Amino acid sequence: MDQLILKKGRAKPALHRHPWIFSGAVACIDGNPADGDLVEVRDAGGNFLAYGLLNRRSQIVARLVSWERDQMPDTALWRRRLERALAGRAALAADTATDAYRLVYAEADGLPGLIVDRYGDYLVVQFLILGMERRKEEIADLLMELAAPRGIWERSDAPVRAKEGLLLAAGLLRGTPPPDRLEILENGQRFLVDLMAGQKTGFYLDQRDNRQRVRAYCPDQTVLDVFCYSGGFSVHAAAAGAGCLSLLDSSADALALAAENLRLNGREVSKDEFLTADVFEQLRRFRGESRTFDLVILDPPKFAHSQAEVARATRGYKDINLLAMQLLCRGGILATFSCSGLVSADLFQKVVFGAAVDAGRDVQILERLSQGPDHPILLTFPESEYLKGLICRVW
Ligand code: SAH
Repeated sequence: MDQLILKKGRAKPALHRHPWIFSGAVACIDGNPADGDLVEVRDAGGNFLAYGLLNRRSQIVARLVSWERDQMPDTALWRRRLERALAGRAALAADTATDAYRLVYAEADGLPGLIVDRYGDYLVVQFLILGMERRKEEIADLLMELAAPRGIWERSDAPVRAKEGLLLAAGLLRGTPPPDRLEILENGQRFLVDLMAGQKTGFYLDQRDNRQRVRAYCPDQTVLDVFCYSGGFSVHAAAAGAGCLSLLDSSADALALAAENLRLNGREVSKDEFLTADVFEQLRRFRGESRTFDLVILDPPKFAHSQAEVARATRGYKDINLLAMQLLCRGGILATFSCSGLVSADLFQKVVFGAAVDAGRDVQILERLSQGPDHPILLTFPESEYLKGLICRVW
């Protein structure tokens, strides 16, 4: 097999099972492997470190898959990894109140660049790196065999594919296509999901447990669900017996779906408020009107996509958190999230602290939240941790 040789002194991350080799660490590539091929990664002294998937077009030149010399990545290895991923979700699979969850979380499940989400009888998959794109048919066959879905729908239309030199792709891979709107169950709540055209793979599965946590604070409260998408948090708030709900998103389609989802779960939405608006503007408008809420949920999209964007992202987080605190009544609850992996939990807390100081409010952290267990954080790959949240009481 062709070899990728690292520069002297650059083997430590690979030795510590970090799955990414950056271009700057590479001394040379022996042989003439095509991008997408398997290579052996070796240190400057020629010692075997791991097997990886090569792509010279990416900053991440190789994604390491196996650190065992005798476990060369082949169909049998992909099968074992998929079986392991499925076994890790056994509790979720057995939970009759939930039928949508992440089955494969890429590097964190030993399958770089592969995302598989289960939505009832269907799987939605993303092939985000060239090495996986090349193995699409093999992976699809294995998924049919191991997970036995009615159909597999591809949503490889994520912009990160461009970094790998890949075009966007979407369509049916196996079986029958999902209905335009598939009904799923999360924590006993019903949701309509558009697997083919919805955001990401259709639903923000990583917030499942957090919706349940936030729900506990909702009885009789007036709730402002900021960045509501299809109403994940609001449906849970309604189930808890929340008072008036105000839902805010820039996407009119998302709000229409959120209203439908609320009705689907028996909510009479005539008193609720659905606002298609920019959050930064609408929160200021509320402040101008001296509106107050008992509970505010802030679940923004990823603000920081690169290190260069972190400073601007933290200003954005500070702004919305400050505004939310100003809208909260005394003793109100703020459930605030960040899904930017580049903003650490520590930095995020500092941003919320800055907002509290500027708002002149005493803020207590009641709970610290993370991504659900179907988005496991691999110890050797801290980049797999991205979602963090705080439930705060704001005096
Ligand atoms: N809370 C949701 C997920 C939120 S995803 C859930 O539980 O499912 C982020 C949402 O923010 C998307 O629906 C997107 O349309 C919306 N959004 C992004 N930027 C926005 C802005 N500036 N103003 C309002 N909404 C925005």
